[in-house]
Amino acid sequence: MYNLNTSISYLKGVGPSRADLLKSELGVFTFNDLLNFFPNRYIDRSQFLKINQLQENSSEIQIVGKITSIKTVQQKRGSRLVATFVDETGSMELVWFRGAKWIKDSLKINTPYVIFGKTNYFNRLFSMPHPEMELVSSYKKKLRSAMQPVYPSTEKLINRGISNKIVSNMIQNLFEELQGKFQETLSAAILEKLDLISKNEALLNIHFPKSQELLAKAQKRLKFEELFFIQLQLIRKKIVRKAKIKGFNFEKVGDKFNKFYKSKLPFDLTNAQKRVLKEIRKDVGSNAQMNRLLQGDVGSGKTIVALLTMLIAIDNGYQAALMAPTEILATQHYNSIIELLDGLDISVKLLTGSVKVKQRRIIHEQLESGELNILIGTHALIEDKVQFKNLGIAIIDEQHRFGVAQRSKLWEKNELPPHILVMTATPIPRTLAMSAYGDLDISIIDELPPGRKEVKTAHRYDANRLSVFKFLKEEIAKGRQVYIVYPLINESEAMDYKDLMDGYESISREFQKPTYQISIVHGKMKPADKEYEMQRFIKGETHIMVATTVIEVGVNIPNASVMVIESAERFGLSQLHQLRGRVGRGAEQSFCILMTSFKLSSDAKVRLETMVSTSDGFKIAEVDLKLRGPGNLMGTQQSGVLNLRIADIVKDSKLLTSARNIAIDLLTTDPTLKEPENIFIKIAYKEVSKNSTIWSNIS
Ligand code: ADP
Ligand code: MG
Repeated sequence: MYNLNTSISYLKGVGPSRADLLKSELGVFTFNDLLNFFPNRYIDRSQFLKINQLQENSSEIQIVGKITSIKTVQQKRGSRLVATFVDETGSMELVWFRGAKWIKDSLKINTPYVIFGKTNYFNRLFSMPHPEMELVSSYKKKLRSAMQPVYPSTEKLINRGISNKIVSNMIQNLFEELQGKFQETLSAAILEKLDLISKNEALLNIHFPKSQELLAKAQKRLKFEELFFIQLQLIRKKIVRKAKIKGFNFEKVGDKFNKFYKSKLPFDLTNAQKRVLKEIRKDVGSNAQMNRLLQGDVGSGKTIVALLTMLIAIDNGYQAALMAPTEILATQHYNSIIELLDGLDISVKLLTGSVKVKQRRIIHEQLESGELNILIGTHALIEDKVQFKNLGIAIIDEQHRFGVAQRSKLWEKNELPPHILVMTATPIPRTLAMSAYGDLDISIIDELPPGRKEVKTAHRYDANRLSVFKFLKEEIAKGRQVYIVYPLINESEAMDYKDLMDGYESISREFQKPTYQISIVHGKMKPADKEYEMQRFIKGETHIMVATTVIEVGVNIPNASVMVIESAERFGLSQLHQLRGRVGRGAEQSFCILMTSFKLSSDAKVRLETMVSTSDGFKIAEVDLKLRGPGNLMGTQQSGVLNLRIADIVKDSKLLTSARNIAIDLLTTDPTLKEPENIFIKIAYKEVSKNSTIWSNIS
């Protein structure tokens, strides 16, 4: 007897050599894999067109008509067969380049045919090469599905003769072998609640749709199921982690925290910051390891939350680490944190690639002895030599810049894993957060500190450069500072440097010394030189900072109020949003000017329009997700959670939300799925989680 786990090579019509191809090209190994190999589109053969309705660039179409004449046209090699085909609205041509002789004999003149295929338009005449044809008389006799499935394929499969028709036949055989009976995987309650059709009906109609309506129902059912089982795994994983992975218990909020909060905090926390801090305190005081993602728009004040969290660790006798993706950012965190902690007797050190060996040795020693409370740094933190005495919390800023493996190196040698707080640079759309980060706890700072003015954003063409320069001079005259940023998509691309250096030269010509001072920072400079130039700008000694995207994340210079982005069409939305976030940090009205050439792709236009019309990071992230698709967004490429077979987290966001809510409900009421009504879910869950590719984004 065959079952779903039977190897595909046993299926009628497959055999060993085709089986090898199915495995290597499509990842289809078993009956079950083939059953779940879904069409990616359908050709609607319930629709017929008239010849006068034909349009250029139409997809496959179907027409009823008659052949009125046939001729053979000689060409350089062989001949071509051309038939005139008419209906009551007009005429067109059918063309064959191969098999002309044989086809000619089989064609009937003045007899109604159904023809099907793609059309070409040339010299004001439509033609259809190699049409699929059938006499109307026999067409009417056959039972067929009006919706013809088209399966994903590869060049190799097609070259080796495995056409769509053959794949369809294989699936037909599969249904016959298994008698079209498949185990239900959802509970009656869920089917009813969401008005879903049974698994059996869904599988049948996804492969052999009886109607458009049933196809839609089949798709909905299978999409839901796919999303539901992923959510079930993610949520179960979170529950298990909380129950099993013990963490340090930060019982108290002590002196350091209180003293800082009462006498050092330079402002009141926003309500959102307070709420997030509460969520974090609850986690770190719960005996379980915290794994929390902190989301907040640019400038929402994540750093202070990080600092307060570190103080809780220190109050409980643990060390804390803060890791940032760039040296500039790590240095900036370090500088602002030592200033904030002044007089509190907390020892803080900075460890980056450019720290000298001797200083490094001191840091290593102080870390191991426990003398050092807070270590701030870059990737240098995860080097083997760095060993903490008792790392209680690791905070990772702008997390998408670090790989998973890199991050876990931080605490490999710890007895217990430290609490983890990762902070994102830009908001992640809700649907993506639910899937790619679905096993983490998420905190959101959804409020900006008071008194921020929205950054005024404009799009200008390169041709208007002079008026932009004039505007910059006016702002500088008011005491403001200006960033001018050049794209540097690929650090090694000489072209980008040329753009940057050319730009720098023309800016130097326009903004001449001694009236104007200019800093320049880019990736090819030595860290010390970069830092020197940064400091000049921070101190207000220079008016303009010409830079590449090294300043993209985190840099905080409140007096800089104008951000000019050159070749803005080359930047992605989240990068543009990050860059704009560098201004609007002080009390003054800030501006962002997006410079582009006239030639813009339609996606680039959408990006620029989005930037001009909103500054809400969550909205921008949604547009970004729509433009680029989930697979291309930061840090999610490797996530198996996003390798979906049929669902789409953007288009099916409503289904995703209900899948998640239903999964949470289910695991709350029946955590081990022991209730009889959930038996199908339990069986299916065991099956999916066996070959699961889901991994945690963090530990
Ligand atoms: P991000 O979330 O982008 O990392 P930062 O932590 O760098 O933002 O904060 C941006 C700026 O806002 C900093 O200058 C910080 O001191 C200030 N800030 C943070 N929280 C508040 C607050 N509650 N009130 C006023 N200013 C704040
Ligand atoms: Mg930040």
